[in-house]
Amino acid sequence: MGFYERTTKGFINIDPLQTGGKLSEEAKKALTEWGDGYSVCDFCPGTLDKIKTPPIYNFIYEELPDFLGCDVARVTNGAREGKFAIMHAFSTSFECERKIVVMDSNAHYSSYVAAERAGLGVFFVPNSGYPEFKIDPEAYSMALDEKDVVLALITYPDGNYGNLPDARKIAKICRKKGVPLIVNAAYAVGRMPVKLEELKADFIVGSGHKSMASAGPVGVLGMKEEFADLILRKSEKFPAKEVEMLGCTARGVTIMTLMASFPYVKERVKRWEYEVEKARKFAEMMEELGMKLLGEKPHNHDLMFFEAENLYEISKKAKGGRFFLYRELKKRRIHGIKAGLTRHFKLSTYGVGEDDLEYIISSFKEIISKYKQNPK
Ligand SMILES: *Cc1c(COP(=O)(O)O)cnc(C)c1O
Repeated sequence: MGFYERTTKGFINIDPLQTGGKLSEEAKKALTEWGDGYSVCDFCPGTLDKIKTPPIYNFIYEELPDFLGCDVARVTNGAREGKFAIMHAFSTSFECERKIVVMDSNAHYSSYVAAERAGLGVFFVPNSGYPEFKIDPEAYSMALDEKDVVLALITYPDGNYGNLPDARKIAKICRKKGVPLIVNAAYAVGRMPVKLEELKADFIVGSGHKSMASAGPVGVLGMKEEFADLILRKSEKFPAKEVEMLGCTARGVTIMTLMASFPYVKERVKRWEYEVEKARKFAEMMEELGMKLLGEKPHNHDLMFFEAENLYEISKKAKGGRFFLYRELKKRRIHGIKAGLTRHFKLSTYGVGEDDLEYIISSFKEIISKYKQNPK
C-alpha cells in the first residue's frame, strides 16, 4: 500500500478534529480542479481578496461577512493565524505597556502560542473544575481589572469538553471594561449558527479544515469595522498588501474548497439542533454503559469528553494494555479515539448518522462485555 492510501478509509470517523472537516462533494471536485499551486491567481489584480475570477472577492466581501455577522472578513490560513494577526496588530500598535491577553483556561494551545509569538503575556480565567469545567463570565470581570490587559479571548466552544460559555455576557463585560474580545469559534463556525453581531464581540475566528468542510489549512476572520484599519493596515512599500495577512493568505486550492463547500455549510448549520440532540442521545447511551460525560450537562455540542473508569480497569489486564481499545475499535472500523487512551477521551458525533452511532454504542457494549468475561 502506498503512502497515499489512507488506512482509515471507509471507517466511521468520530475524531473531533475531523468530523467537521470532511469535504462536501463540491469541494472534492474543487480539490482536483484547483490543485495546481497558485491556481487561483490566474487573474490576480494585486491581492487575494480582490480576485474576481474565481469569485473570491464576492466571497470575502459579501458572503463571508454576512455568514459571520461581521462588518469586515478575511480568509486566513487557519483559526490560529487569525488570532495571531489580531494579537500582533495590537501588540505592535500600542505604545503603552498593555501586554496581557485574558483568556479562558479551556483555551486551545494555539491561542496561547499566538499570544507568545505576538510578544504578549497571558492571564487565564479559571474554570469551575471537575466535572463540568465551566467558565463563569463574571470571572472575566475580575481578570480584566488586572492592569495591562490589551485583549480578551473566549473559546466558543472549547476543544476539550465542548462547553459553550456565555460569550454574549463575556462580551458585555469586556465592552464595559473597554477591552476588545476575540471569539475563538474554531469548533463553531461552520457547525452551528454563530454571528459576531449577536454575541456583540469584536472579533471572530473560525477554522475551515476543522468545521467548514474544507481542505486545510484555511480559516476565517471576522471583525467590526472599527478595527479594520488596525488589523488590515497596508504595507508602506506595497500599498495593496495587508501586513498582518503577509500580503495574501490562502492563495491556492484551500480557499477554493472553502468556497465550494460554503453553500453546503450554510445549509448544515441549520440542522444544529438535530446534531445536539444526537450528541445528547449518544452521551446518554455511553453513560448507560458505565462511562461518564464530563463538561456541560446537558451538553450543547457534538464534541464530548468521556471519563471511562471501566475501560481503564480493562486496560490494566488486557493484552496490549492501554492500546486494547484502539485495537478493538479499529477491528470494527471505527476511527477517532486516540490510540492508547482509555480513561479519558474525546469524540465527536457531528454528521455521523444515527445508524453509525448505534453501531458505535453496540461496539462499546460488545468490547466491555468481552473483557468482562475474559479479562485477557
Ligand atoms: C482546532 C482548534 C484551533 C486551531 O484551528 P486551526 O484552524 O488549525 O488554527 C483553535 N482553537 C480551537 C478551540 C480548536 O479546537
